[in-house]
Amino acid sequence: MTRVIPPGSTLGVLGSGQLGRMLAIAARRLGYRVHVLSPDDDTPAGQVADVEIRAPYDDSDAVVKFARGVDVVTFEFENVPLSTAEAAARFAPVRPNGAVLHTTQNRTREKAFLRTNGIPIAPFAVVRSREELLNAVADIGCPAVLKTADWGYDGKGQIRIASLSEAAEVWDARTADEYVLEAFVDFECELSVIVARGLDGEAVTYGPILNSHRHHILDVSVMPAVVRSEIATNAVDIAREISERLDVVGVLCVEFFVTCDGKLLVNELAPRPHNSGHLTIDACATCQFEQQVRSICGLPLGSSAQHRPAAMANLLGDLWAASSPAWEMALAQGDVKLHLYGKSLARPGRKMGHITALADTPELAKHRVQMAREAIQNDPSASRSTPNRTPTAVEDCQVPLEKQAR
Ligand code: AMP
Repeated sequence: MTRVIPPGSTLGVLGSGQLGRMLAIAARRLGYRVHVLSPDDDTPAGQVADVEIRAPYDDSDAVVKFARGVDVVTFEFENVPLSTAEAAARFAPVRPNGAVLHTTQNRTREKAFLRTNGIPIAPFAVVRSREELLNAVADIGCPAVLKTADWGYDGKGQIRIASLSEAAEVWDARTADEYVLEAFVDFECELSVIVARGLDGEAVTYGPILNSHRHHILDVSVMPAVVRSEIATNAVDIAREISERLDVVGVLCVEFFVTCDGKLLVNELAPRPHNSGHLTIDACATCQFEQQVRSICGLPLGSSAQHRPAAMANLLGDLWAASSPAWEMALAQGDVKLHLYGKSLARPGRKMGHITALADTPELAKHRVQMAREAIQNDPSASRSTPNRTPTAVEDCQVPLEKQAR
């Protein structure tokens, strides 16, 4: 018998960004209390939580105190150190468990797991020295993509390599000790499937969702993805299989490339709700965040049935560059929903919010969401007054775009 953690109990969330915020909103709707821990304060998740604890993840006293005060711990960000999850697990169940976190927070381990389990992936090699890199480039061929083994998301720490001589230069300018070199995939499109899996192994899925990226950051997602039914079925089967092999309790996103010759390759895994699943909030009977709450609490999963085709467009900090965005231009449109994450600094590339549009077809939903985003940007009355607590644009930031996505 699974022990249910009933509404009224307290969820502990490691990490405090927008994923934690939307998780906390779903949890509160179900009557749970929410405590979050992260090194920051006035965070997107902290703003809607009951308790926001500001502490570094390696502050074991703070982590123990946090875990003692909650009934179950989850994370919204897979780069939480494993030692933090392990310290918390002495006092409360951590779901998904530390082993899932350990596998998915490092590309070398994640790819080894996928390869061992016969999941299709692009050719890759682990690289820890200049010699290994040159050998890997010679084996895999060019172009190839060099990715840091740790701290990878949204294209962070990725470099495209076009030739052997370029590889040597890239190695000399390296910033990490371990990398994965991956064949460059000539893809037709990118898909994701989200699986919610309960304590009893029951699973429901969303997608595939069709994703397009800009500067390696997700730009627009559309569900359902208009792809051949065989590809859609395979993607869902592969995602389910991965969630079983990993024994995930919670939510898992599997990202895929569909190659130009029609094959599916897994790109990466995220053991948490995913940006491409944000449209489930407005489009589905149960959203990915509520599924995370239900699964980690041992409750039955909800239906993932989709009411209408939907598309989601991310709102990055760039939107604030010229003037403060004209939200009413989007809000005035029927079937368009606005979600903002409460972040006070609008840096270029930073995810500040998203909009979702519903329509009768996926194509129309995509068109509508793109139009809505343009309308927000192209406000004719651009010199508007900026109310207090509206995010401030930061223009002179030196950090490359792809490093700022959270
Ligand atoms: P990642 O952080 O690994 O998901 O990469 C972010 C985005 O970069 C992906 O969604 C792709 O658009 C692109 N990308 C990553 N790896 C490759 C690859 N091996 N071949 C082609 N494009 C890639």
